[in-house]
Amino acid sequence: MKFMLTIILIGPQGCGKGTQAQILLKNQGLMYIEAGAMIRQRALLHDKKSDILNHIVNQKGVLLPDGIIMDMVCDELDEKVNMNGYLFDGFPRSVVQYHALKAYLEEKKIRLDLGLYIHISDVEAVKRLGGRRICAVCKKGYSIFLEQNRNTCDCGGELKKRIDDEPEAIKHRLEEFHKYTSPILELMKKDKILKEINGEQSIENISFDIKKCLHISDNNLHLDASS
Ligand SMILES: [Zn+2]
Repeated sequence: MKFMLTIILIGPQGCGKGTQAQILLKNQGLMYIEAGAMIRQRALLHDKKSDILNHIVNQKGVLLPDGIIMDMVCDELDEKVNMNGYLFDGFPRSVVQYHALKAYLEEKKIRLDLGLYIHISDVEAVKRLGGRRICAVCKKGYSIFLEQNRNTCDCGGELKKRIDDEPEAIKHRLEEFHKYTSPILELMKKDKILKEINGEQSIENISFDIKKCLHISDNNLHLDASS
């Protein structure tokens, strides 16, 4: 018998969350609840809710109200039951959302196992995001630090810097992270589910550190709650 595993992945943009999420998904069979993608998809449906979403999303720098995002996550969870567990990315983004998620999971008798915080400094985040380039055609991402001489995507598309990755926009997102999301870390610590991972190392080493937190043996899942 396999045990369920429910993880919140948390960290500022540029910390490598997306990459680590893909590795976890491949290995653990978790359902991926990525808030950004979920909101974009939901906004495509033409109904009253999507009108409100589009209105808010189009106002740059405005965070979605907790109630709206929570509604969407609950709908998603109700719809897509997964016995292996869940991986949350980009949600919860505020203390209110964290409490609401905990209450929802409790009601469904799903244990929240782990809060993985991939930590990088603001300086490193600014550096990484500033070096990010996106293909204008297929939207694939590249880093000028990893591939210095690359100007075009594998698909032939031109690589461009997103407006979101200009220094002012990055600074704004980091401020938001510290203001709204960082307080969740304190709550996770109290709940004894927080694990801090050093995000300023190679993808392989980050992944290795995450696996150490999971402690998976053949049939059993043991979480180390000592730190
Ligand atoms: Zn491309």
